Amino acid sequence: MKRSFNLSAYETFSHKTDFAMSKHSTVGCGGNARTVFYPQSVAEAKALLSKLEGDKIPYYVIGNMSNVLPPDEGTETPLVCTANLNGVTVGEGAFVYAGVKSGALLSICKRNQKSGAEFLYGIPCTLGGALFMNAGAGGTYIDEIVESVLVYHKGETKLVSRKDCGYSYKHSVFMKNGAVILGAALKLTDATDEEIEKKESFFKARRAHLPKGKSMGCVFKNPDGFSAGDLIERSGLKGLRMGGAYVSNEHANFIINDKNATEKDIKTLIMLIKNAVLAQYAIWLEEEIRYIPL
Ligand SMILES: Cc1cc2nc3c(=O)[nH]c(=O)nc-3n(C[C@H](O)[C@H](O)[C@H](O)COP(=O)(O)OP(=O)(O)OC[C@H]3O[C@@H](n4cnc5c(N)ncnc54)[C@H](O)[C@@H]3O)c2cc1C
Repeated sequence: MKRSFNLSAYETFSHKTDFAMSKHSTVGCGGNARTVFYPQSVAEAKALLSKLEGDKIPYYVIGNMSNVLPPDEGTETPLVCTANLNGVTVGEGAFVYAGVKSGALLSICKRNQKSGAEFLYGIPCTLGGALFMNAGAGGTYIDEIVESVLVYHKGETKLVSRKDCGYSYKHSVFMKNGAVILGAALKLTDATDEEIEKKESFFKARRAHLPKGKSMGCVFKNPDGFSAGDLIERSGLKGLRMGGAYVSNEHANFIINDKNATEKDIKTLIMLIKNAVLAQYAIWLEEEIRYIPL
C-alpha cells in the first residue's frame, strides 16, 4: 500500500516531481520517485525535515545513488537529495557539506595541497553517502579522517564527534538513529603535489580491475574473516544471469545491469547468491547495498 503525501503543503521547498531513479542511480533501474526535495541550505534542510517529521511523513535521503536499489514500482516516499548542500571550506582540515562528490572534494584538496581523502578516488559517492556507509578502499575508511559530523536529528542540527558516530566496518550510528548528515569536519594534512599524486595513483591502480558497467559496487559486506566475492565465486556463481542482470565475471561481489535489468531481476540474484553461499559455506551474506522503500 502506497502512503499518500500531499505536495501542496510543501510547494515552498525546492523540489522536482517524477524523478527517474533509473537515470540517476548507478545501477540504472527502478521506477520514478514522485517527489525529490533539494534543500539549498542547512536551514532549508532543517525546516523541510522538521515539517516532514511533524506531518509524520517518512522520507528517504539520497546522495549519488551509488549504493541503493530503487523499486520497479517507483516510490511515493519523498526523497531528500543532498546535491545542493555542496560547499567546501578549507582551513587546517576542511568542512565539507554532504552533497559534495568525491571527485570535487579531491580536486579541492589538491588545489589546497591537503592530503588524507585520496582513498575516495573513483568511489562514485557524495560525502554524506560515504559518511553514512563508512565507505573506504584499500584498507582505509572515511571514519579515519572524520573529526565531527554535522547532522539533523529529531528537530535539531548538531555536531556529533567522531567517537559518537559508532563507526565500524561498513557501519555508522546514522544507520540506526535516522540522523541526516549535512556535512563534516575532516582531518587533512598538508602535502606536496607529488605526495598527493603518489597516493592517488596508488588508489587509482587498485581500482583498475573493478568491473565496468552499471552496478552498485559491492552488493554484500565481507563476513568476518571472509571475502564475500570469494565465497560467491567459489560457489560457482560468476556469470549467473537473471533477466537483464548477471554476477560479474571479474568480481563476483558486483551485479551488473547490462540489459535493462529490473529491481526484481537483481533481488532474485541476491536471494540466489545468499542461498547458494549458505548451502555451501553455512554463511548468510548480508547486503551492503540499501533498498529504497516504496
Ligand atoms: C562502481 C562502484 C564502485 C564502488 N566502489 C566502492 C568502494 O571502493 N568503496 C566503498 O565503500 N563503496 C563503493 N561503492 C559503493 C558506494 O559508492 C558507497 O557506498 C558510497 O558511500 C555511497 O554514496 P552515495 O552518495 O552514492 O549514497 P547513496 O547510494 O545515495 O545512499 C547510500 C545510503 O546512504 C544514505 N545516505 C546518503 N546520504 C546521506 C545523508 N546525507 N544523510 C544520511 N544518510 C544518507 C542513503 O539513505 C542510503 O541508505 C561503489 C559503488 C559503485 C557503483
